[in-house]
Amino acid sequence: MEKHYDVIVIGSGGGTKLVTPVAKLDKKVAIIEKGPLGGTCLNRGCIPSKMLIHTAQLASLIRDAKRFEIDFKGNFDVDFEHLVKRVNRTIDAESESITPLYEENPNIDYYPHEGHFVDKMTVEAGGVRLTGDKIILGVGARAAIPKIPGLDKVPYMTYQEALRNTKKPKKLIVIGGGFIATELGYFYSAVGVETEFLVRSILLRPEDDDVREAFQDAFSKQVKLRLGCDFQEASYTNGLITISYKDGKGNLLKAEGDALIVATGIKPWSDSLNLEKTDIKVDEKGFVKVDEYLQTTQENVYALGDCVGNFLFRHSANFEGEYLFQALFHEKTPQPITYKGVPHAVFSSPEIAGVGKTERELKEAKIPYIIGKNTYAASARGMALLPETGFVKLLFEKHTLKLLGAHIIGEEASNMVHMLILAVQMDATLHDLLGMIYIHPALPEIVRNAARNAHKTLT
Ligand SMILES: Cc1cc2nc3c(=O)[nH]c(=O)nc-3n(C[C@H](O)[C@H](O)[C@H](O)COP(=O)(O)OP(=O)(O)OC[C@H]3O[C@@H](n4cnc5c(N)ncnc54)[C@H](O)[C@@H]3O)c2cc1C
Repeated sequence: MEKHYDVIVIGSGGGTKLVTPVAKLDKKVAIIEKGPLGGTCLNRGCIPSKMLIHTAQLASLIRDAKRFEIDFKGNFDVDFEHLVKRVNRTIDAESESITPLYEENPNIDYYPHEGHFVDKMTVEAGGVRLTGDKIILGVGARAAIPKIPGLDKVPYMTYQEALRNTKKPKKLIVIGGGFIATELGYFYSAVGVETEFLVRSILLRPEDDDVREAFQDAFSKQVKLRLGCDFQEASYTNGLITISYKDGKGNLLKAEGDALIVATGIKPWSDSLNLEKTDIKVDEKGFVKVDEYLQTTQENVYALGDCVGNFLFRHSANFEGEYLFQALFHEKTPQPITYKGVPHAVFSSPEIAGVGKTERELKEAKIPYIIGKNTYAASARGMALLPETGFVKLLFEKHTLKLLGAHIIGEEASNMVHMLILAVQMDATLHDLLGMIYIHPALPEIVRNAARNAHKTLT
């Protein structure tokens, strides 16, 4: 069977930004998805992890309550099995609720299959050959597994299994030091699992050094942290997982546990698409090459999100999907995509968030800047929180005083950063931030205090 569509979308994460909206223009759309609808974010990423981390934060708060003169006379426990089951029940229902929206829309055909190219503009899914005027690749990525001898014989979890695991481990080993590793490791440790991190290099490499170091100091009080690990071997005997590694001095050490999470990066699903049948090119890591209009190296085929790898967030995948919808269906002369300030957050403990340039990037690009920093502890609201760490760092272009970057580590960082996302978006300057009235005593006063400290460097 062969069917023709105005648009074929492969992958139901950020790609969904071109499904219902395009169908509403009375165009025929095919959505091909081999897994549950909603992609990584809904089914095995952002949403379940944040639901689990919410409980982790409550548990941390209760454990810490004594500092706030609240004394729990008894012990408390987290019902791990029920928590994980509840979270997954909720997200499974969310995912299943998308199916009727597609099935009942006469302009949308949903193919619950793996799709792959059979020629340049023909995709096969579930035995049907689909041709499209435009094809959108939003196939995302899965966990990349490092080459450690013996690891293939160990029952390790990637994020996918770690978010669905209902058996609380006694001792967890985490291999990896990025945002997925530090979020999952925080969850497990906060709900009472002894957790040991083995990291090949350093934690949260993309962050500025001061942010990374503050995070590392605080995080190492919650988990056992081994940095600079040169992995030698993994083994599994009688329920015990052993990872042997050499430390920076060449000493052979080992970590043991009854569970292992491997979170060392991602690998794009581009290899599932049979791209050899097309002119679509990928880079050496398999990320799909696109131009500044998100068009691949083949005309009328576009790509977005994790499979392109510009940014590895759901909000950036959505942004790219929304850009493509406008560019392909509303604009006569599309403009290149511009990423003014792509924000990010690490929902670990402490929380981190940032937008725009890091200080390292400014130094590398030789952009003159001034900096203003302020700690949580030095703010009125901070006094109530008894913070052991945390600061806001603002980076302004030296001559125009335009805000180029903002970085926050501490409570509510992912919420606090939003005023600074807007500031970057609107080209706000130091004076704009100083001219605002801030609610007293709310956390954003830390932003104002950082701006004041930047201002002091001018005189
Ligand atoms: C544990 C974890 C926590 C995260 N937390 C956050 C967070 O808090 N905030 C944030 O912004 N991001 C977070 N992310 C990252 C975020 O989930 C991804 O960046 C985002 O989902 C990427 O969207 P996408 O549309 O590119 O791909 P995906 O959402 O992965 O969608 C791609 C879809 O394509 C399907 N597919 C692949 N190949 C084929 C094929 N050949 N045929 C048919 N279907 C195919 C896949 O099954 C998948 O459903 C997290 C990720 C993880 C793993």
